[in-house]
Amino acid sequence: MQTIDLRIDAGWIVPVEPHGTLPGHAIIVDGGRILAVVPTRAADLAYVARTRVALPGHALVPGLVNAHTHAAMTLFRGIADDIPLQAWLDDHIWPREAQFMGPEFVYDGTRLAAAEMLKGGVTCFNDMYFYPDAAARASLEVGIRAMLGIVLLDFPTPYASDADAYLQSGLAVRDAHKHAPTLCFALAPHAPYTVGNAAWEKVVMYARQLDLPIHTHLAETAFEVAQSREQHGGTPLARLHALGATGPGFIGVHAVHLDAADMDLLARHGGHVVHCPISNMKLGSGIAPVAALQARGVNVALGTDGAASNNRLDILGEMRMASLLAKVGSGDPAVLPAQQALEMATLGGARALGLERIVGSLVPGKAADIVAVDLSAGELLPCYDPVSHLVHVAGREHVTDVWVGGERVVADRVLTRIDAAALTARAHSWQERLK
Ligand SMILES: [Zn+2]
Repeated sequence: MQTIDLRIDAGWIVPVEPHGTLPGHAIIVDGGRILAVVPTRAADLAYVARTRVALPGHALVPGLVNAHTHAAMTLFRGIADDIPLQAWLDDHIWPREAQFMGPEFVYDGTRLAAAEMLKGGVTCFNDMYFYPDAAARASLEVGIRAMLGIVLLDFPTPYASDADAYLQSGLAVRDAHKHAPTLCFALAPHAPYTVGNAAWEKVVMYARQLDLPIHTHLAETAFEVAQSREQHGGTPLARLHALGATGPGFIGVHAVHLDAADMDLLARHGGHVVHCPISNMKLGSGIAPVAALQARGVNVALGTDGAASNNRLDILGEMRMASLLAKVGSGDPAVLPAQQALEMATLGGARALGLERIVGSLVPGKAADIVAVDLSAGELLPCYDPVSHLVHVAGREHVTDVWVGGERVVADRVLTRIDAAALTARAHSWQERLK
């Protein structure tokens, strides 16, 4: 008998790799990693667990990956709704950022976001915002895995004055945290239309030198594409390709208005798309061509975007919306079935972030990022197919327990690492200042 750290028995395990469900199995965890996924009887014969958790009415799924958000913007949740993207940025978001944004804003906003995400089963997020040092501090404290953006824009903000200052600040944060096992970094130029060619060339140089992904908004609106054709003689993606930014480390967010040549280019060069269905619907941006991208073999992940344009950080909800929107967009109910939606929210997100060897599925050797979803309540019965229920029936209110790297960071719906009441008080204090 082998002594191990943790054994979790569940009604069903949904490993994502392979597809389908494993009834009557247990996950064996040791040293923060998944050691085995085995039938209950085999676990009884082989392992003695220091901690044992039995969840007979639950499904265990891999930790969900929110592949695009602006975590600190959670403090802007609901502050300005029902406005087109450009006016929303120009008149509501950017003026408030100029006035209020700073390390404490980012620290509190990111803690609030991380708390919401963990309680909804999101164990890893890809962030694009200012003061990544404050976001790093918040993520480490709450216990969530994060890819933090080394953000840059061509115009000054309270955070940095020009492209070089953005890059140097971000790279210094990366250096300070390079040994943190739950943090990693990407270059995050905001968008093709807010970053000029000279700064893009620097981004490409650092991406190659330091082997970092490039995370950017891409072709979110029809206006952006028309403007790019006029100013640069091609689509935003064609321009980024000419600058050398595309490749297997390229993460294009939204990708609503891609033409066939753009999609072929992504397929040929191994770039990833992050689909943000609810943000796209809320801002009236359009329907991303998810089925056409997947048919070409392009990896598509799921993101919430910031809570200021969503207004939730709920990847379980995004899975359902992605599936429904793909069916509406294509007129084909067979498009984006539940298993595929679940894969986008887990392994697809891990692939986009270059973390597929560490997270994204429940297989031996990967980090024990595990989410327990209670499928026993009346509104989930009967349950013929847990995967279908995870996408179309269950909500984040059914998430009860979450482990990141084998540590139980949510236990019976309660965050184990932070004082929720103190965080609530901070959110109220920001509400008073920002309103
Ligand atoms: Zn965004």
